Amino acid sequence: MYNYTVKDRFLKYVTFDTQADPESKTYPSSMNQLELSKHIQGELAALGIKYETNEAGYIYGFIPSNTGNSHEKVCFCAHMDTAPDASGTDVKPRVHHDYQGQVIDYPDDVNLKLDPQKHSYLMKKIGDDIITASGLTLLGSDDKSGIAIIMDMATQIVNNPEIPHGEIRLLFTTDEEVGKGVDKVDLELLDADFGYTLDGAELGKIEYENFSANGATLEIKGVSATLVVQKESCKMPLK
Ligand SMILES: [Zn+2]
Repeated sequence: MYNYTVKDRFLKYVTFDTQADPESKTYPSSMNQLELSKHIQGELAALGIKYETNEAGYIYGFIPSNTGNSHEKVCFCAHMDTAPDASGTDVKPRVHHDYQGQVIDYPDDVNLKLDPQKHSYLMKKIGDDIITASGLTLLGSDDKSGIAIIMDMATQIVNNPEIPHGEIRLLFTTDEEVGKGVDKVDLELLDADFGYTLDGAELGKIEYENFSANGATLEIKGVSATLVVQKESCKMPLK
């Protein structure tokens, strides 16, 4: 039942609506994120991988070393939620087999096109299968493709015990898209020496720095000055 390919997993995960809600004060910000969390927990249980979860729906997976030696513990992380910018309800993934450089249309929105003239990266994918949404929703590849890859890796490791490996940690979080993706991470429980997040970028690319995208809303009360006064005041030397 769980002998999915990475593509099968991805096509399953995107059917879960896990859109995060930036206005929410709860963890997770939208309760439907827990449905995908439960589904992944079921897959881990079927693979015999020990896991823990918390009220926010995070999943910590633990794969023990099979070498008998002590190695550093490495974590692989991905997030289950999708961006609030576009609907994640009733995602209809479309697989474009053996892509040959054509313009990709979206059946549910005739104005939407994926054109290799504008998106030259597509030309690097000739012969690959490309998955898009149908035009009314986001696809959710950010970051369900990360989850699919990590779950496929875990399946390969569990099903092929001849592959030597150290201790591996899996971490799936909620609400990354609304800036709360690490609020509830228990680093002691995770017990990893280092980790990789699988989220975006091209194949083979590793980013080792990130920016802070925290937002702030400023509400200023007072009397507005005229433009002339502002200009005059700008001429004053700073002291
Ligand atoms: Zn992401």
